[in-house]
Amino acid sequence: MTVFAALDQGTTSSRALVFDGNGRILGAFQKELRQIYPKPGWVEHNPDEILTGQIEALQTAVRLSGVNISDIAAVGITNQRETTLLWDKNTGECLHNAICWQCRRTAPYVERLVAEGQAETIRQKTGLVPDAYFSGTKLAYLLDTLDVYERAGRGELCFGTVDSFLAWNLVEGRPHVTDATNASRTMLFNINTQQWDDELLNMLSIPKALLPEVVDTAHVIGDLRAEILGRPIPVAALAGDQHAALFGQACFDKGMVKNTYGTGCFMLMNTGGEAVDCRSGLLSTMAWRLAGKPTYALEGSVFVGGAAIQWLRDELGLIQSASETETIAESIRDTGGMYIVPAFTGLGAPYWDMYARGAIVGLTRGSGRAQFVRAALESIAYQSADLFSAMADHCGQQPPRLQADGGASANAFLMQFQADILGIPVVRPKVTETTALGAAMLAAVGAGHMTLEQAKTIVKPDLTFTPQMDEADRASALDGWHRAVERSLKWSVD
Ligand code: ADP
Repeated sequence: MTVFAALDQGTTSSRALVFDGNGRILGAFQKELRQIYPKPGWVEHNPDEILTGQIEALQTAVRLSGVNISDIAAVGITNQRETTLLWDKNTGECLHNAICWQCRRTAPYVERLVAEGQAETIRQKTGLVPDAYFSGTKLAYLLDTLDVYERAGRGELCFGTVDSFLAWNLVEGRPHVTDATNASRTMLFNINTQQWDDELLNMLSIPKALLPEVVDTAHVIGDLRAEILGRPIPVAALAGDQHAALFGQACFDKGMVKNTYGTGCFMLMNTGGEAVDCRSGLLSTMAWRLAGKPTYALEGSVFVGGAAIQWLRDELGLIQSASETETIAESIRDTGGMYIVPAFTGLGAPYWDMYARGAIVGLTRGSGRAQFVRAALESIAYQSADLFSAMADHCGQQPPRLQADGGASANAFLMQFQADILGIPVVRPKVTETTALGAAMLAAVGAGHMTLEQAKTIVKPDLTFTPQMDEADRASALDGWHRAVERSLKWSVD
């Protein structure tokens, strides 16, 4: 038997899964990752915990799977993106906790870049909207705060995102590498030339000697250190989590789209071999790079997705668990014209209004618990539909279907409503662990055990939700939603 393992180093947990050659899960284990909040808006992770958690997850998942270690043909690594680490090249010791992608501490660095008129250059070269999420300003902050520019310039230090850090620590020979998807989230990598960009590095005074080599997404970077599983195994993929999920949904062709319904929602569309110029707050990013050939994607996110359901549970106390929302929503025919716009922290693409705040409109005397629950679920679908149409407009192409995954995709009402409001089928795959599956598939491809054609056959649909709403109802529902969004815009005066 040939099996593949995936390490999935996420924001809140370190996970590992073992898959057989048909993409079936044989074993899985996860370890929570502690969140460190030194100040409001600041988020860090302890690098040792990332490492030990990940090793423990892998060892346990393999043990639970019952497979022979010699059957594991390759390991793929997927990771929370943009999170930034800096370590000593000689001792391997980290100079600081990992600065998590969510951390807002480098907002002043971004403001400076924007004030200097650099936003357009950044957008053209990296496909990104300048933001503190991305690694570049986090690295500049570390070099400043720790006052280590000279050491960095002498090549004594290594910068890396979580994929780099894991590769350096888990792979024989300590390769200092990152893949093109992770590099594309640093704000230092030119996605058109596929190189670290001198102009971007100069903007943030970052010495090139710090940077990892950028490799293909599916590519053998070396062997997993033998002491981890008892024998060396090729590590054959590195990929940012959303990119791995796009691969794990087999969105290999231009125009294919996946949406991951988690706390927030992440939508990526494969845009083929050319980077699409990004507008309306959508990001242009790498899908992956295989055999030196880049494939690009458009990316957009919904800030509050499944979090709206947590809000119903934790703040409003209307439900006990997320899973009951499906039956509650289906107990009524519609919300009676009520809409919830969960713009708790502003609205992302295509609105990009940081001053928007949540709104509940269209209340009547009949608006009760079921209407609230249904409106909250519908808001996830409406926000995703807005992203979807922004992407479709951008590419001048209507994708034939949407592929769904993530925790909230378990909700059949949400999936059906999404199909209704989009007017195209929504497909949920058998394995909804698409991030880990994608990393395992990439590793199988990278180690030469699978072609893309074979990888495609692994991803099997479980359920297809076909649109049932008629055109007039869809138009009227969307019109109501857009009028509700109007009322939430520019609300906050801070
Ligand atoms: P993340 O990876 O962002 O932590 P998950 O993919 O695990 O998220 O999904 C968890 C989110 O999905 C939570 O916000 C939760 O409220 C929501 N969720 C989970 N199950 C359901 C469900 N059956 N219906 C609606 N929302 C759900």
